[in-house]
Amino acid sequence: MGTLGVLGLELVQMDTPPTTAYLQIYTGKRCMANCQFCAQASGSSADMTHIARGMYMPFDLEAVVGRLKIAYERGYLARACIQTALYDTWWEDTVYLIKRIREEGQIPISLSVFPLSKIRYEELKKLGVNELVIPLDACTPGLFDKIKGKTTGGPYLWEKHIEGIKTASLVFEKVGTHLIIGFGESDEDAIGVISDLWNNNVNTALFSYTYIPGTQSKPSDKTESETIKHYRKVQLARHLIMEKLAFYSDMRFKDGALIDYGVQEKVILNIIKNGKAFQTSGCPGCNRPMANETFSKIFNYPKKLSELEKDIIKNDLGLQPKI
Ligand code: SF4
Repeated sequence: MGTLGVLGLELVQMDTPPTTAYLQIYTGKRCMANCQFCAQASGSSADMTHIARGMYMPFDLEAVVGRLKIAYERGYLARACIQTALYDTWWEDTVYLIKRIREEGQIPISLSVFPLSKIRYEELKKLGVNELVIPLDACTPGLFDKIKGKTTGGPYLWEKHIEGIKTASLVFEKVGTHLIIGFGESDEDAIGVISDLWNNNVNTALFSYTYIPGTQSKPSDKTESETIKHYRKVQLARHLIMEKLAFYSDMRFKDGALIDYGVQEKVILNIIKNGKAFQTSGCPGCNRPMANETFSKIFNYPKKLSELEKDIIKNDLGLQPKI
C-alpha cells in the first residue's frame, strides 16, 4: 500500500514512505507451501492481502512498472523487491515481471525466493536481478521444521535452504536471508546463525514475528518487554558482528541468553548514539516501514532515530535511559 502511495497510484498518508517498492506477485491462489505464520500459506484462512502487517493490494502490473521507472529516476525509490509464492506458473510470472521492470529502467532488483538450481540463479542474474534473498525465517533446524518444514506438510527442508543460499552466493555477489525473531529461539540461536551466515558473506535481514489472525501459528506467549529485549539484543549483536566490532566467539551466553557482547559498554553506548543498528536491515535502500510495527512498538526503525527513540532503545536493552 505504501508502495502504491509513493508511485502515486493510491492516496496514502504516510509519515515515512517506503524507499523500496515492495511487490508481491498476486494470483488469487494460495501458495503451495504451508509456512505457519504466513497469510498466503496453503492451510491458512487469513486474508491474502496481508504479509505480516503490510497490506498488499492487487494492482495493474503495467501501471506499477511504468511508475517504478519514474520514481527511481526522481530518487523516491532506491530498489524494487519482488516476493514470490510457490504455485504452478510462479517461474514464468516472476521472469515476466523482472523482464518488464528491466525493459523500463535500471532500478536495482531484489528477488526473495525459495532455493533454486544454479541454472535458474544464472538466468535470474542475466535477467537483471541484483540481490537474491532466500528466507530461512527460522533460526534453527528444529524451528524451521516446525514453522515451514516437513511438520507443516510443506516442501522445504533446512538443509536445502542452506545449500540453496550457498549455491546462490556462487552466482550473485550479494545474497541475503530473512530471519523472523520471536518463534521461541534463544539469543544464542539467533546470533549464532547470523554469524555463520555472515562468515559465508550472507546478509541477514531481521523481522519480528507478527501474528496474523487466520494463519496457523499462535500469538507469542512472551511479554512485550521480553520480546523487545530479545529483538534489540539480536539487532545489536548482528551489528557488532557485521561491523567487525566483535565476533560471535567473543560473546558469552547463559542458558541461551546473551550476557556479554564481547565489547566495552562505551562501544554499545556509541552504537545506540549512532542508531543505525536499530534501523531496518537488509538490502541497500530497504526500510520496510510498518512491516512489523505498530505506532507504539517499533522493531525496525525505517529512518534515522530521534533522541527519544535512542532513549527507548536503552530502556529496551535494560540500560539507563540517560547515560
Ligand atoms: S531486505 Fe528488503 S529489499 Fe531485500 S529482499 Fe528483504 S524486504 Fe526485499
